[in-house]
Amino acid sequence: VEPVLRVSGLEVTYYTDAGRAKALDNVGFTLNPGEKLGMVGESGSGKSTMALAMMRMIKAPGRIEAGSVVVGGTDLMALDSEGMRKARLSKIAYIPQGAMNSLNPVMRIGAQMMDAVKSHLPRESRGAIEARCRRALQSVDLDPGVFRMHPHELSGGMKQRVCIAIGILLDPQVIIADEPTSALDVVTQRQVMETIDNVKNAINAAVILIGHDMGLMAQFVDKVAVMYAGRLVEFSTVREMFTSPKHPYARALIDSLPNLDNKGVFQGIPGLAPSLLRLPSGCAFHPRCSSVMDACRSVRPEPRVLASGRSVTCHLYDSEG
Ligand code: SF4
Ligand code: MG
Repeated sequence: VEPVLRVSGLEVTYYTDAGRAKALDNVGFTLNPGEKLGMVGESGSGKSTMALAMMRMIKAPGRIEAGSVVVGGTDLMALDSEGMRKARLSKIAYIPQGAMNSLNPVMRIGAQMMDAVKSHLPRESRGAIEARCRRALQSVDLDPGVFRMHPHELSGGMKQRVCIAIGILLDPQVIIADEPTSALDVVTQRQVMETIDNVKNAINAAVILIGHDMGLMAQFVDKVAVMYAGRLVEFSTVREMFTSPKHPYARALIDSLPNLDNKGVFQGIPGLAPSLLRLPSGCAFHPRCSSVMDACRSVRPEPRVLASGRSVTCHLYDSEG
C-alpha cells in the first residue's frame, strides 16, 4: 500500500520576545489509507502545533521552518496559497479543538455547511451543494432535518457530528480532529468515535485523532504517536505501544494508565513538562527519565526507524534499526 500521508522533517519555531521556542522538531511519520493515528502527549507537547503545521495554519510569530507533508502524492508545503486553500477540506480536513462551540449561533446548520464549501465548488449548483451537505449529515447519522436547525437546537454530540460532516464534505484523504471528544460525556464520546470510524471507512481516509486520553485512544486507533516537547518520541502500532512501549516517556504513560477501579482518569507522570523556551540540554526528557544515562544530558537523540516502521527517539536504541 502507498502511504496516503507522509510527513517528514517538519519543524516549527515561535519567535517570541522571551526567545525562540522550537514547537516542532524534526517530526516525521507515514499513514496508509484507512489508518487511524492517535496523537498523545501533555499539553504544550506539540500536538495541536502538528495539526496546524500540516494545515499550514501556523500564525506569526510562529513559522514553519522545514519539512514536507505529502498527501496523496502532493507536498502541501510546496503549494502556493491558492493551491493550499483548495487543498484544505478537499485533500486534508481539520476539525479544530472546540469546533462545535464555534458554530455560528445565528446561522442555520445547512447555511454554515454550504458556506464552508461554496468557494471550493464554483461550478456546482446550489442544489447540488445542498444535496452534498444533506448526504454528509446522513453519513454522520444525523437527521437531514438538522440542515434547517440552529446550533442551540442540537446537543454537544450532534454539534460535533456537524463539524465532522463539514470535514468530510469534499472527501478528504486525511482528516485531523483535535480533541474531538473533550467536553462530551462518555457515551457520546464513544458515539462520536464510532461516527469518525464510519466516515473514515466510507471515504477510506487516514484519520489523526489528537487527545491526551491514551486509554480512549487505544480503543479506536491503529497507531499511536507520542509527542514530548515538540518531538515525536515514539510512533508505533497501538499493539506494540501497549505491549512493549520503547521510549521511557511512552512507558511511563502506559504504566500510569488507570485500571478499571479508578474510573478512567489519566494519572499523569511525575515531573513538569518543560517550557519550550528553556528546554533541558540533550534529551528534553532527561530530568524526568528513569533510564537517563550520561549521554542523555548532552546529546540530543534523533528519531530512529526500527522494524515495521516503528520509530523511537531515545539513546537506549542507538544501536537498533
Ligand atoms: Fe531517557 Fe536518555 Fe532516552 Fe531521553 S534519551 S528518554 S533521557 S534514556
Ligand atoms: Mg492542544
